Amino acid sequence: MTINPLETLVPSYINTFNAYIPSKPDPELKKLFGCSTLYRLNNNENPLGPPPAVQEMLSRFSPPRAAIYPSGDSYYLREKLAEKFKLHPDQILVGNGANEVITFVIKAFCEAGDNIITADKTFAVYEWVAIFSGYEARLVPLKEFSFDDEAMLAQVDERSKIFFVCNPNNPTGTYWNHDKLCAFLDRVDGRQIVVIDEAYCEFVDKEDFPDGIALIDRYPNLVIFRTFSKMYGLAGLRIGYLAGSLEVVNIIRRTCVVYSVNTLAQEAAILALEDSNHIEHTRQLVHEEKAYLHRELTRLGLSFVMNEGNYLMVRLPMSDTLAYRKLMPKGVMVRTMTGFRFPNYIRITIAPHEAMEAFIRGLEAIL
Ligand SMILES: *Cc1c(COP(=O)(O)O)cnc(C)c1O
Repeated sequence: MTINPLETLVPSYINTFNAYIPSKPDPELKKLFGCSTLYRLNNNENPLGPPPAVQEMLSRFSPPRAAIYPSGDSYYLREKLAEKFKLHPDQILVGNGANEVITFVIKAFCEAGDNIITADKTFAVYEWVAIFSGYEARLVPLKEFSFDDEAMLAQVDERSKIFFVCNPNNPTGTYWNHDKLCAFLDRVDGRQIVVIDEAYCEFVDKEDFPDGIALIDRYPNLVIFRTFSKMYGLAGLRIGYLAGSLEVVNIIRRTCVVYSVNTLAQEAAILALEDSNHIEHTRQLVHEEKAYLHRELTRLGLSFVMNEGNYLMVRLPMSDTLAYRKLMPKGVMVRTMTGFRFPNYIRITIAPHEAMEAFIRGLEAIL
C-alpha cells in the first residue's frame, strides 16, 4: 500500500471536516437553471444596496489609490464607531467581515482540549472555526426556536472558553431580551467569554431588545459582533467588527490580522454610519413585506418562523433541496436549511415586493 505523504500531514480534525462550498456566481446559476432574472433571497443582503452617499463615493474612487495599502487597523472607522458608541477606539477591532473576527476571538482564547458553547441551529461559522481549529463545539439544542440559556450553562466545564449567542438568531429571529441577557452574563460571572453576535440588531425595534455595546462597561468578558453586510448593504466589500472592554480587546488584538480590510470597505462603512434614512427605508420595506408574506403563507397553509431580522423560515411538505431546484428556474434563489439542521425548511430574505410576489407565485406552483 502506498501512503500519500500529504495525508500524513493532516490533523485528524481536518481529515474529517468537509469544506463548505459556496453557491456559484449568478451568471453561472442563470445558465444552469435557464432563468433570465434571479432574485437573491438566500443571503440576507439589503436589496436596496448601499446608502446613496456610499454609492457616490464608490463611483468616484480614484483608481491609483488601489496601489496603496489601506489603514492597517481601520483608524478613522474606529474613531467614528467610538464616537457613535461612546467607546475608546481601541475597544474596537475591524475585520474582513464579522466572519473574520470570529476567528480572532477563537484563536485568542482556545487551546488544545478547550471547547466553545453555542446552539445547534444558528449561524454555523462559530462551530466550523472551532472544529477546524481543533477545538470542541458543544451545540445546545434550541428551545422553542430560541437559545436555551439554562442548557448552555449546564454544558460548561473547566475547558469551556467562549459562549456564542446570536441575537437575534439567524435563522429563527428569536432574541434574548435585556433582562435575560444580563441574567446570563451575571451567571457566567466572567468565567467565560460571552460573544453576542448582533449582525441583525439594526432590524430590531423591540423596546426590550438589548444593546450589547451599552453593556460592555459592566461586563469585561463581553464581546459584541456587528457587521456592515446586512442592514448597511456592504456585503460585497466584506467588513464587520467586534467591540468589548479594553481588557478583552487588548487580548484579542494579538490574533488580529491587520491590513485585512480594504480601503473601499473602510471608507464605505464610515459613510454608511451617517445615513439613518437608509436604515429607515430598509426597515419600512422589511416591515411591509413581512406583513405580505405573513398573509400569503397563511393563505397557502404553510407554517413559518417569522420573528426579528430581514429573513424568515418556511416549512415545506417536501425536501428543501428539491424546492431549491424547482424555484431556481423561476428565478427565485432561497436558502436550503438542511445545513442549519432544519431539514424541509427554507430561509427567505425580505426583498422588494416584486421579488416577494415572485417567491409566492413560485412556491404556489411547486406545492
Ligand atoms: C451574515 C452574518 C455574519 C457575518 O457577516 P460578514 O458578512 O462576515 O460580516 C455574522 N453573523 C451572522 C449571524 C450573520 O448572519
